[in-house]
Order: sequence, then structure tokens, then C-alpha cells
Amino acid sequence: MNVTIVGTGYVGLVTGACLAELGNNVFCLDLDRNKIDLLNAGGIPIHEPGLEEVLLRNVEEGRLTFSCDVAASVAFADLQFIAVGTPPDEDGSADLKYVLAAARAIGRHMDRFKVIVDKSTVPVGTAQEVAAVVREELAKRGREDIAFSVASNPEFLKEGAAIDDFMRPDRIVLGVDDDEPGQRALALLRELYRPFNRNHERTRVMDVRSAEFTKYAANAMLATRISFMNELANLADRVGADIELVRQGIGSDPRIGYSFLYAGTGYGGSCFPKDVDALCRTAQAHGLPLQVLTAVQRVNQAQKHVLLDKIRAQFGRRLAGRTFAVWGLAFKPGTDDMREAPSRLVIGALLRAGARVRAHDPVAQEQAARVLADDLQDHPELLRNITFVAKPLDAVTGADALVLLTEWKIYKSPNLRAMKDAMRTSLVLDGRNLYEPHAMAQAGFTYLGIGRNNRA
Ligand code: NAD
Repeated sequence: MNVTIVGTGYVGLVTGACLAELGNNVFCLDLDRNKIDLLNAGGIPIHEPGLEEVLLRNVEEGRLTFSCDVAASVAFADLQFIAVGTPPDEDGSADLKYVLAAARAIGRHMDRFKVIVDKSTVPVGTAQEVAAVVREELAKRGREDIAFSVASNPEFLKEGAAIDDFMRPDRIVLGVDDDEPGQRALALLRELYRPFNRNHERTRVMDVRSAEFTKYAANAMLATRISFMNELANLADRVGADIELVRQGIGSDPRIGYSFLYAGTGYGGSCFPKDVDALCRTAQAHGLPLQVLTAVQRVNQAQKHVLLDKIRAQFGRRLAGRTFAVWGLAFKPGTDDMREAPSRLVIGALLRAGARVRAHDPVAQEQAARVLADDLQDHPELLRNITFVAKPLDAVTGADALVLLTEWKIYKSPNLRAMKDAMRTSLVLDGRNLYEPHAMAQAGFTYLGIGRNNRA
């Protein structure tokens, strides 16, 4: 089938590459000329395991095209996926300007039936807004005769495992209208996703509003589990229990399960914070403030400061002149995405307090340098106090403490003796509970995890 993907970010690029891998012809549109030039030169704008290989293969086999040509992208396919960003507006609700601009462009150029598929995460009711702008554009050209349908197909992939998630989805949610264009849309989408249903049916067909809601409900549930565990971890610290043992104790109950129960430094990334916020805004607009999710957000905000509080408890407020090693900058392993990464808050606070930072991340250093320069615009001179190093051990050399912020594999089994010898003191602040407290104590470290202090 022919498919157009509008937006070649984390979601659009992965969707395009994977659909091409299944034999479809895919036209990827982006308005960012630099991104398109890079992709056409064989480069890749994001780090995502396995993506480069799939991209190169499908470009070579002629199934994948990258372009800024809007008219050509609309003409290319009946299926037009919108996968552009939906960042938070000033008040926290989802900003739909990119989605509506993409929809408008489709309406402006289409000359036959189209299915416009919202793959971006968008609030309930957005499909209606998309349909309205398309209708407006058709009316401007006197082409109200052209039929179209707006469907919802939210994306559930996780950065860092995006190719795998897309290729082996737990479910494919399709929100379509009951009318004739809606059913035509459903037939096309079913055909596109047929290869994923070979073993068993993974498609969940529903009305558009429920599909839009499903994505927010999923992210809100996951964020809730994280904040729940973070709050209990803080209590574990007070009462002298180990949250890791508690996690395993409750996770073994199949009604609870093990996933998404890790205590840490709060959730970040491009999705959870903005999606939870957007859902809360939607609820407020409907006069039904969501009390659980409001608390989830509040707990998360506080959790981002937990490591800084622990640092201050160790060193007092006098951080000037101290050196902190930071392992992990990306908001999670497997990606270079720095959106809402806890490392930004921690490093920003350390630098502002006059400390020096020696930072390591296997892939996100370049992105981190860029976003930190943005974050510290008011004090650019502080950037002189952060050094990005090539190896984890280089970061800890001469450091007063190690702060672990992303659970990359490379940090899982460090050479503790070499670490101890290299560091000035032996304080390890583990924001991901990656290490065993008794092993760290045995190796001579003062170890502070999240909710594990009884065994420090
Ligand atoms: P992104 O910021 O990485 O990419 C968006 C891309 O869209 C950019 O390259 C931008 O240049 C392009 N763009 C903007 N307006 C355009 C237009 N009118 N025409 C063509 N291109 C345009 O965003 P992302 O992380 O891929 O997220 C996209 C959507 O998917 C968001 O709604 C997000 O919430 C959702 N989502 C993201 C993830 C994730 O893990 N990143 C997972 C599931 C869902």
C-alpha cells in the first residue's frame, strides 16, 4: 500500500520505517529541511536501536522517501498519517497547532478520497477539529464533493524499544466513524495492519473519541504507578524498609504485575508529563478535576528534587567547588531524548550552586549539551563547569559523588574497585536503584538509593 507519514520525529520516522519494512511504499514528509536533507544523505536524526538498519534497507529498496514537498506527499497516498508533535501549550493543554496545520495542508492539496489518521497523541475531540479544518480548506476551493474520513490510531511505542514495539504491538487501537467514509477508512487501516494480526487479532476497533482517550488513559495509568511507587519509596526511607524488596513482593501478585513499579527520580520524557497534564486540563475544562492525576503530578514534581535533597543532606548547601560525576543524561536508556529528563534539573541545580559536573551518557551527550545551553541561557558562563567525558570511569575521577540518573546497561556492572580508587570520596547516589546496597557497602561506598536507606 501507499502511505504518507506527516512528521519524521520519533514516532513518524519509526512508523514510516516499519511500514516500509512490511513492503509498503512510504512517503515521509517533514517541514524541517535540515532533517530531510540529513535523512536523504543517509543520516539519522535520532538515536533509536535498530532504526538505522531498517531505514537504510528500505531507502535502498526504494520503498521509503523523505521530502518537504507537501503537494507530493498528499498526492502520494490515500492514507495520510499525522505524526507531528503535540507539545504542551502555556496552560499545559495539548497545543494542536502542528496537527491542525498538517490537516490544513492535506485539505488544501487533496483531490480524491483521503483517510487522515491522527497518530499524534491528541485530546478527545481533536478528530472533529481536524475534520473541520479539512472541510474549510475544501470549501475554499469549492471541492466539498471530495469525501474523507478522520481516524484515530494512537501510538504506544516506547522510545529505546520503538522498532520492536511497533513491529510487535500489544494492541492496535483504531478509532473510526460509523459512516461510509469511516468504514472505508477502517477497511484500509485493517489492510495496512493485517500483517500484525497473523498470530492473533491485536486490533481494537472503537469510536474515535474512545481511541483518543485510550492513549491518555494508558499513559496516565503508567505515570500513576510510578508516582505511587515513588511516594512509597520516600516512606520506605523513613520507616527503614527497602522499596526494591517491596516491589518484588507486590509485583508477584498477577493483579499488580512487575511492570512500571520502579522507584526513581520521577518520570520524564516527551510523553508522560505532557499527557498527564493535558488530560488534567481536559478534565478541568469539563468541570471534573481529576484528583488522582493531580496528585500524581504533584508527587512527580517533588520526586525530581529527591536526589538534590539527598545531596544537600550530605554536603549542606556548600556545593561550590565540589565535583559531581553524572552517569546518564537521557530521560531513559536507549534514547538520546532529553525532553523533561531529570538530569536537566539535577545538573542545572548543581551548576547554579557553583559545583562542577563531569557527565557521561552513551548517546545523549550532544543533545544534552544543546538543551543545557538552553536551560542555562541566563548564566552561560556556568557551562564552563560541565565536562562531557568519553567513559564512565573518566566521569568519576576526582569526583566528590557519583549521581546515577539513567539506567543504561553500561552502568549496571561497574568495576567498583576502579571506581573507588578514582573517586575523591565514596558517595554514590543511585537515582535508579541499579545497585545492591550491601554490595556497595562491602565495596566501601556510602550508597544512597531511592527508598533503600535501611540497608545503606
Ligand atoms: P517529534 O517532535 O520528535 O517530531 C515531530 C516532527 O513533526 C518534527 O520533525 C517536526 O519538524 C514535524 N512537523 C511539525 N509540523 C509539521 C507539519 N505541519 N508538516 C510536516 N512535519 C511537521 O515528536 P514525536 O516524539 O515523534 O511525537 C509525535 C507525536 O506522537 C506526539 O503527539 C507525541 O505525544 C506522540 N507520541 C510520542 C511517543 C514518543 O515516544 N516520542 C510515543 C507515542 C506517541
